[in-house]
Amino acid sequence: MGGLLKTTSRSESENNYFDKFTNHHCSLVEFIMQYNRAIEEQRHNQAKLNADCEGSTPEPKTPLGMERQAAALYTINIFYEFQKEIWAGSFTCKITNKTLEDENRRYIVHETGAKLFEVTHQEATHKTECSCNKFNRVGILCKHVLAIFKDEGIEEIPGHYIVPRWTRDASARPMYDIVLKGSPNTQGGNELKSIANQLWNEFYNCLGLENGSERNGSNDNNAAAKWEVKER
Ligand SMILES: [Zn+2]
Repeated sequence: MGGLLKTTSRSESENNYFDKFTNHHCSLVEFIMQYNRAIEEQRHNQAKLNADCEGSTPEPKTPLGMERQAAALYTINIFYEFQKEIWAGSFTCKITNKTLEDENRRYIVHETGAKLFEVTHQEATHKTECSCNKFNRVGILCKHVLAIFKDEGIEEIPGHYIVPRWTRDASARPMYDIVLKGSPNTQGGNELKSIANQLWNEFYNCLGLENGSERNGSNDNNAAAKWEVKER
């Protein structure tokens, strides 16, 4: 949800965090020491989350290959969300109608205790749309789509439905050191370089959030690759 926070919420949250470590009586030296402690604590928390993720082998609840793939791919919390969906898709969803229209298959899925959901599936590309719209909202496939994937014997999550921000290596990001043409040796060149680096970081943060989302019916999953080519 980080990307959806307003700038003020984000800076308030940072303020609140650093307030625990500093106060307005701190000398400059004390402030720097406390600031370093705060950063160390954040790194420690991040390392702990990574260790929790790497050290855990969640128990599968279905024999499906897609669940095993998700366990290796997603962070542990996202995996548990996905597991709920795949379990429900296997045991609480029933396909009650199946029709073929052009290249699309249209399914009606009945979920126990809920209403009917309509799912379309393009066989050639494995692109799907479900009336519950869960994937577009949270970036995880819904039980209805997973039910029809199971019915069709699809054993892997199609690449365009793997949202990078939910994967274990989401925080691994390249470092950028862009040199602006004509500016490195001039006064203020370093400042410009630093601004350019910040812009690139922001740009890649946005790209990371967008990547994997569908827009205007076209899939932009390869956006990062395209931009990398342009950058070179
Ligand atoms: Zn759905």
